[in-house]
Amino acid sequence: MSHRILLLGAPGAGKGTQSAKLADEYGVEHVTTGDALRANKEMETEYGTPKSFMDAGELVPDPVVNEIVEAALSDADGFVLDGYPRNLDQAEYLSEITDLDAVILLDVDEEVLVDRLTGRRVCDDCGANYHVDFHPPEEPGVCDDCGGELIQREDDTEETARERLEVFYDNTEPVVDHFRDEGVLVEVDGEATPDEVFDRIRDVVEN
Ligand SMILES: [Zn+2]
Repeated sequence: MSHRILLLGAPGAGKGTQSAKLADEYGVEHVTTGDALRANKEMETEYGTPKSFMDAGELVPDPVVNEIVEAALSDADGFVLDGYPRNLDQAEYLSEITDLDAVILLDVDEEVLVDRLTGRRVCDDCGANYHVDFHPPEEPGVCDDCGGELIQREDDTEETARERLEVFYDNTEPVVDHFRDEGVLVEVDGEATPDEVFDRIRDVVEN
């Protein structure tokens, strides 16, 4: 049977990395809202196509996102869903349209998340990515690839990181409570190396 997995976690919790590993391990599709919208941007819904909102520079409204995600999930033979649901309405919709066999919350302390999010450095010349703790350059502040200067992007400052986390907690706590009430939520300690965290997730999925 193909796995149907939902991964929840804050920015910096490692959701993208773990989703990719899960997709690889179980041969299922990694479904993100962004990819689903791009792949189905011409799909007609009662409210218009996703493209009509994107072209107007507007957020694609929930009912449209819901239909697009539903289409992406029904096309997939097993999936790991990442970045959806973002709020309680979406979570309730998801529970109606699919039976998930694992809902996993990657649990990482807020201060650890802030450290992870603010440690990112990007080469100003070639765009290569580094992290002061997890993937440091050989010489601090200098790109290994091209010798360019490493900078901290606006998105990665502490102020922005804390704002992103607040938005995440406000929107996602009701989502977490929803799946906890359904009895399907499993919390996984996300404060370890990506390989260690993946072992913990695999235990949940297989048991
Ligand atoms: Zn560079």
